[in-house]
Amino acid sequence: MKAYSDMTKEELAKELEELKKQYHKFQEMDLKLDMSRGKPCREQLDISMGMMDTLNSAADLTCEDGTDCRNYGVLTGIHEAKVLIGDMMENNPDNIIIYGNSSLNVMYDTVSRAMTHGILGNTPWCKLDKVKFLCPVPGYDRHFAITEYFGIEMIPVPMSPEGPDMDMVEELVSSDESIKGIWCVPKYSNPQGYSYSDETVRRFARLKPAAKDFRIFWDNAYGIHHLYDDEQDYLIEILAECKRAGNPDLVYKFASTSKITFPGSGIAALASSPNNLEDIMKQMGNQTIGHDKVNQLRHVRFFKDIHGMTEHMRKHADIIRPKFEAVLSALENNLSGLGVGEWTKPKGGYFISFDALPGCAKDIVKMAKKAGVTMTGAGATWPYGKDPEDKNIRIAPTYPTLDDLKTAAELFTLCVKIVSAEKILS
Ligand code: PLP
Repeated sequence: MKAYSDMTKEELAKELEELKKQYHKFQEMDLKLDMSRGKPCREQLDISMGMMDTLNSAADLTCEDGTDCRNYGVLTGIHEAKVLIGDMMENNPDNIIIYGNSSLNVMYDTVSRAMTHGILGNTPWCKLDKVKFLCPVPGYDRHFAITEYFGIEMIPVPMSPEGPDMDMVEELVSSDESIKGIWCVPKYSNPQGYSYSDETVRRFARLKPAAKDFRIFWDNAYGIHHLYDDEQDYLIEILAECKRAGNPDLVYKFASTSKITFPGSGIAALASSPNNLEDIMKQMGNQTIGHDKVNQLRHVRFFKDIHGMTEHMRKHADIIRPKFEAVLSALENNLSGLGVGEWTKPKGGYFISFDALPGCAKDIVKMAKKAGVTMTGAGATWPYGKDPEDKNIRIAPTYPTLDDLKTAAELFTLCVKIVSAEKILS
């Protein structure tokens, strides 16, 4: 196919006329489709229904150590859940706290505690004139929402397929004491699906922050969310690497079973060094007597061990792989060679990232919406919702049915072509 920028004005204007006819046909279809939400679809939720049968009124809700899960207590989670989640996170159960149903909640709490009480005896962030966070971009809007909520200044750091620009991270972190953290989604990142290279992880573990209370917020939300059996990304385990590098307290690592069992009713966890865990537990004891142990037990009895979880993730992959492939083939078939955008081809996670021509993302999303397809808002993948080049769009293929997704992807690529052609002609 000929690139749009290589076409004559007349050729491109003719193409545009044809594309608009196709768009009007889509408008007549009265579509109501949604490619915006990184949510599991119904079939994915159904595969965890067996978990509901593991406990009933006749069940013995006693843990291996004799704890009665129905009662108060066990602040940091039951041991067998720590073993299961420890295997999932590749961390020692002793380095883990099990929380409630949401890791985002844990991240919020972690920032909030640093604001009000400080980290390991350091000045609470709220007493400082300026607190800044590094934000690899494009990234996850809800991370950025947390730091924005607390008035923390966000500094974008460009992503590459190897991870964040580490020259920039090292330079900023070592020279500016007001930089207190960085948001990372190290594996199958949201939205690009990139996984950090070994070198990136090693460099993270060897950071020399100017601030003693600088922490890496390592959100391993997609640690076992592979799309393929034979092609998977592997990461160096960050806690162990930090310990090896003599930086044991540098990282808070987060994960949850939200996209393994039920997003509304999974279990979330944090892994960190003994010093950090002790610091956190001082606050936690004032916050709760313990989280939902019955749900922790339910997860353990359903999966039994990490092998059960791995098998379970294959079922998820079987459901969502065709959806990713459908979107990728629509992008490939309709856009390759036109020079109107680039997209990622993830091996796991929940998203595909699309970069349009600069200045086109908002119009593409608007145009898709007008014909009945909702995309994640353009700009959402940047701090403050402001994509300076207005080019990144997050595609979430998991929730719609395969048929709906195919239609939505066709319409999306059509909108990309129309908006790009108009831009080039303008
Ligand atoms: N972290 C990332 C990177 C995500 O993409 C999501 C959900 O989309 C979450 C966290 C939400 O996690 P949880 O459901 O455990 O709060």
